[in-house]
Amino acid sequence: MASFGEQQVLTALKGVMDPARGRDLVSLGMVSGIAIRDGNVVFSIEIEPARASQFEAVRKAAERAVEAIPGVLSVSAVLTGTRPPVIRSSGHGHDHAPAHAAPRPALVPGARAIVAVASGKGGVGKSTTTTNLAVALAAQGLKVGLLDADVYGPSQPRMLGISGRPRSPDGKILEPMQKHGIVTMSIGFLVPEDTATIWRGPMVMGALQQMLRDVAWGELDILLVDMPPGTGDAQLTMAQQVPLAGAIIVSTPQDIALLDARKGLNMFHKVEVPVLGFIENMSYFCCPNCGHRTDIFSHGGARQEAEKLGAEFLGEIPLDIRIRETSDAGTPIVVEDPSSPLAQAYMQIAARVWEKLSGTAPRPAPRISIA
Ligand code: ADP
Repeated sequence: MASFGEQQVLTALKGVMDPARGRDLVSLGMVSGIAIRDGNVVFSIEIEPARASQFEAVRKAAERAVEAIPGVLSVSAVLTGTRPPVIRSSGHGHDHAPAHAAPRPALVPGARAIVAVASGKGGVGKSTTTTNLAVALAAQGLKVGLLDADVYGPSQPRMLGISGRPRSPDGKILEPMQKHGIVTMSIGFLVPEDTATIWRGPMVMGALQQMLRDVAWGELDILLVDMPPGTGDAQLTMAQQVPLAGAIIVSTPQDIALLDARKGLNMFHKVEVPVLGFIENMSYFCCPNCGHRTDIFSHGGARQEAEKLGAEFLGEIPLDIRIRETSDAGTPIVVEDPSSPLAQAYMQIAARVWEKLSGTAPRPAPRISIA
């Protein structure tokens, strides 16, 4: 139990002024979403988006004020607004950041590209796809990180077969976990799975920022972010505040028909993040006994929909028991059976994703059709 509470946090923040209005943040009603867990404090400061750059100093002052409370271990203040500025890292072709964007240190400065893997709703296989793509990218010689940002249901520890807690030699920066040739961080390594579900919006953003900023990611070619499913406020804020080079949308064929995937596309368009393309998961069913192929969910929807929306169709992954079994066992199919057509399907998508991001193919991927 923390030895302090929300009241002490508010009292501390009463000492922090909005310089333009000459009153403190609390009296102005700008503080919201205070969450305290084991001495770690997260809260939001709501601002007019246009004032973001001038508020960076206030945000830091607010963090310092709360840090001074005895018992506080860490503080993360997040600026939120109805339309916060789009913050980009430099060097990935995103030098068109708005002039008023806050001059913050880049989150994960060592990553050449941060790419979100998103879905319109849960259960479509977003995490499974992210895991396999991550190891497929690593198999092609790239340095890969995987951030499990699905704080409501972190599944990467299980899918990658990792248990234990990350080390922090200096008590501040966490070392990412390593498995199957990639580095990874998940809230699932830090808190028990059931507690993650009660998190509120601003806390989600705070946790994500910490997992980006306070983890020794090192030099990476690509950092894949397994997003929380859906297109609500938490996802939109993440899409805005993480310097994304692009986004991949995973959907099932019927998900496309229900327009959920389109919502994902619209969300990234809204925040000017390029959508690298759609992946159709559970695209069709291949009978393990007789090899007969069945299009359970009116196969092909994603390809048509992607074409209609002007986004690329990156590829399709069948519904296959081996994909579920291998991810449940913590050894993704790309690691377990790299020469299988299933693994090759992921490898081909991974190669295309990297080609789109870098303008070069890591290695020619063989064209394999799973029929
Ligand atoms: P999401 O991240 O979208 O919620 P998950 O990746 O957790 O979805 O997948 C949900 C379930 O479906 C998991 O049990 C996973 O193993 C299984 N699954 C995902 N993709 C496939 C597939 N192509 N074939 C068979 N099972 C799959």
